[in-house]
Amino acid sequence: MTTNPVVPEMPDTLALQAQDAAHYLHPFTDHTQLHSKGSRMIVRGDGIYLWDSEGKKILDGMSGLWCVNVGYGRSSIAQAVHKQMDVLPFYNSFFNTSNVPAVQLAAKLAELAPPGFQHVFYTGSGSEANDTNVRMVRRYWDLMGYPDRHVIISRRNAYHGSTMAGASLGGMSGMHEQGGLPIPGIVHIGQPHYFDDGVGMTPEDFGLRAAGWLEKKILEIGADKVGAFIGEPIQGAGGVVIPPDTYWPEIRRICRKYDVLLIADEVITGFGRLGRWFGSELFGIEPDLITFAKGVTSGYVPLGGVLVSDRVAKVVMDGGEFTHGFTYSGHPVACAAALENIRIIEEEKLVERVAEDTGPYLRQRFASLAAHPLVGVAETCGFVAGLNLVRGKAARLHDQLRFDPALGVGMVCRGHMFNNGMIMRAVGERMIVAPPLVMGRAQIDEMVALIRFCLDRTLEDVEARGWI
Ligand SMILES: *Cc1c(COP(=O)(O)O)cnc(C)c1O
Repeated sequence: MTTNPVVPEMPDTLALQAQDAAHYLHPFTDHTQLHSKGSRMIVRGDGIYLWDSEGKKILDGMSGLWCVNVGYGRSSIAQAVHKQMDVLPFYNSFFNTSNVPAVQLAAKLAELAPPGFQHVFYTGSGSEANDTNVRMVRRYWDLMGYPDRHVIISRRNAYHGSTMAGASLGGMSGMHEQGGLPIPGIVHIGQPHYFDDGVGMTPEDFGLRAAGWLEKKILEIGADKVGAFIGEPIQGAGGVVIPPDTYWPEIRRICRKYDVLLIADEVITGFGRLGRWFGSELFGIEPDLITFAKGVTSGYVPLGGVLVSDRVAKVVMDGGEFTHGFTYSGHPVACAAALENIRIIEEEKLVERVAEDTGPYLRQRFASLAAHPLVGVAETCGFVAGLNLVRGKAARLHDQLRFDPALGVGMVCRGHMFNNGMIMRAVGERMIVAPPLVMGRAQIDEMVALIRFCLDRTLEDVEARGWI
């Protein structure tokens, strides 16, 4: 065992990589590819930075996986967790029992949620929370006397998790191909993706058209069979798809018209990401159910759940036993971490900062990247941002020349980011970031400069390969 420059007691990188390859099945990973390079060992985090086992410093533009809203290295969360573990590491909430952090967090979430939400159902993850949505929507309509209203409509390219129900609700074709998904009773419509599908239309008209696909689908299935529509306010894993302003109000109108429940999957957009506690407020969604996870604990400890509107909660609570729940529903340690995380967000006014200061600054700085020869669009919403790599620019958006998707230019760009200490994710030709909400103006400058530097390297590379 050799000593490591960052964490002295760490075994050396090669030994770790060998053990990793021998024993660790990674999520969403091509293992042949992983083993050919070896995994990168992340050993420490502080603020917006990570360090790997070779001592290399990395700017984490993705907040881990859209979750570390308050940044790394928050010892007060570690202390809250430690204290709770000493006092009561676990107890369940099944048999008419409860625990202090779960109750306190429920009350806090009711205070932070949009109007009309007084209840929370806890899970261990975002996927489990969306499974809960499927069961709760169906239970609700059963109790209301409409047992046929079990169909849930979602969107292509949506991400709602990776359990059977979560992956079915999601619209990722690569996930549906494995395991015979979607499960019955879940159908999909198109996504509000203006850059891809809005050719020849204004964004406003396209937003109305994309929302209209929901009405068409409801009529096709029969309104008496549709229980709910689910959508992320902004599609995250699908590539930061920011819908036109007209989209959500029209979706809301259609759901009301046919009495279809509206589920906002706020696993990414909750807890300040868009400069509001919940993205539903920004877009005027007025949902009946809200999925949360990730930012609720800033990822320090796993926790997810569903915020349940008064309309649904009343029916489900009055209807006798809802035969659903998890061993870790309301886990005291996870709830203690969430309470401290939320306290930090409030104390440091991170939601207000993103809304009024750092969010607008990121928008302005990120937009400057659109001048780069490789960049077609560069857009942000709060603290999520995406840019499209294009082969040729044009005055009109839809006239820009696209790269052949088979070339994998996004992955080439991601490689240059990775090698230069910047974590930016590639979704096809779309490069995305969602930095920790603690990032200040100077760090935004640092990140944008780093992205520009890596875009230059990508351009040289793409030219050398003859792709332009
Ligand atoms: C990450 C994510 C999920 C799944 O959450 P897990 O905790 O990974 O199960 C669900 N919905 C959205 C929008 C997500 O981004």
